[in-house]
Amino acid sequence: MDDCVFCKIIEGAIPATKVYEDGHVLAFMDIQPVNPGHVLVIPKEHDELVTDMDEEHASALFQAGVKIDAALRKSGLKCEGVNMFIADGKAAGQEVFHVHLHVIPRAEGDGFGLKFPEGYENKPSAEELKETADKIRTSL
Ligand code: AMP
Repeated sequence: MDDCVFCKIIEGAIPATKVYEDGHVLAFMDIQPVNPGHVLVIPKEHDELVTDMDEEHASALFQAGVKIDAALRKSGLKCEGVNMFIADGKAAGQEVFHVHLHVIPRAEGDGFGLKFPEGYENKPSAEELKETADKIRTSL
């Protein structure tokens, strides 16, 4: 994709600080890290959404994420836990429309976190959960 910043990184047209590469994926440092050690893993094929990826790229993406997670824990960087995160679509917070898995080292009290919507504390009934599950199940 001509105007995709992550495709340009794969082509070497713009610089990135690479940490891992194989036939399917590239991992590099996020230029605006949540915490030091924040890595992005991307498929080498341009896919906008997770659902656009073929199975090989999808599994390679997660496998590389697991490798980076393990490396962060051994690296000496502050890493008491790890968040893996994908913003899949604009409404989910995606800003770069080439799939990317964030691998973010976390520490107690680091200030990063998810914000929950109003009403989150009201758990749905078992019936509501079942209706929702049915909708998902019939779409599989
Ligand atoms: P998202 O909101 O999930 O789409 O996140 C996009 C991420 O890409 C952000 O964390 C940015 O800091 C990061 N980013 C954007 N451009 C670059 C770049 N040229 N090199 C490294 N990371 C980038």
